[in-house]
Amino acid sequence: MSSLRIRGGIDAAGAPIEVAIVDGLQLAEADGVPEYDAAGLTVLPGLIDLQVNGAVGHDLTDEPESLWEVAAGLARHGVTAFVPTVITSSPSARERALEALAGGPPEGWAGAVPLGLHFEGPMIARSRKGAHPVQWLIEPSLDLVDGWSPDAGVVVVTIAPELPGALEVIEALAARGVVVSVGHTDATTAQVAAAVAAGARLVTHLGNTMPPMLAREPGLVGHALGGTSLTAGVIADGFHLDPLTLNTAWRSLAPSGRFLAVTDTTAALGMPDGPARLGDHDVVVADGTVRLADGTLAGSAASLSQCLRVIREVTGASLAEAVDCCSGVPARLLGDAARGALAPGCRGDVTLVDDDLHVVATVVGGVLVHDGRR
Ligand code: ZN
Repeated sequence: MSSLRIRGGIDAAGAPIEVAIVDGLQLAEADGVPEYDAAGLTVLPGLIDLQVNGAVGHDLTDEPESLWEVAAGLARHGVTAFVPTVITSSPSARERALEALAGGPPEGWAGAVPLGLHFEGPMIARSRKGAHPVQWLIEPSLDLVDGWSPDAGVVVVTIAPELPGALEVIEALAARGVVVSVGHTDATTAQVAAAVAAGARLVTHLGNTMPPMLAREPGLVGHALGGTSLTAGVIADGFHLDPLTLNTAWRSLAPSGRFLAVTDTTAALGMPDGPARLGDHDVVVADGTVRLADGTLAGSAASLSQCLRVIREVTGASLAEAVDCCSGVPARLLGDAARGALAPGCRGDVTLVDDDLHVVATVVGGVLVHDGRR
């Protein structure tokens, strides 16, 4: 059933709102369809996460076939669409991920819609590889990215533009409509500018795995904050960036719609707090973080709704402003006019939250896929 009338709630600005969805699309009104009583809830456009490494115990690079389980798990956290991220890996992991996406969901599945893959690597800087496996790093080449396009299932590619051959690859990907993101990089300011001229539009997890901004060498961070071209993916989980850094990013980027909230979340999202085994590591999951036994931050276990709360607390943004970074900004970046808004003509993707911004229900394409009140 993909028709639903959501009534009794308020919108992000506090005004009463009714959302009518017929056959998966929002309409001005709908009669004779099931109703969802949203009294006491705030009705938001469906949240969209452009950087998801895994969820509910599954890592998308280790187990690309878990895509649809991850997608179902994300919906329980208020996400209605997302970009599954495959980090630097063997070519077979990327192929398996593309196959899982192209194969479509299993019978009876309901969850967040994968919008295409993000290949984060393997064309990244060895010196800024973070947790990526060094043996699979590779220099950019047109052969490697042959066939990477939105039609084939690739919508975002992270690359280090200082690598030999990178600019040619950026130009080719951008011409195909792939969102090229600069990240895991030691690029100079001039190399960042060259990447932007070649078509790069995004920064992968601003401030992490890149040089800091310096007085006369602003680099990638300075280009994003001080320039006008780059949208920046910001891990707004409350742990990956100091609140002052997060606030600086907010003030620089949000007014021009370039602040993209991402979780960079991992298999630990949706797992209970406590000791866990993730990949090859013994970790401790607590309050949206994943740490090694010695306390080192080993990834995020944050939901996008947690980021929404952090953004509001740290920046003082209005709910409508904060929500736009978790819905409208990612939709516009991908050129997806059917998502990211509560408006007739858009898909029926809705996230319902309580006064503390905890997710209560998730509607994807007019289907109630999660209802915490039941
Ligand atoms: Zn990364």
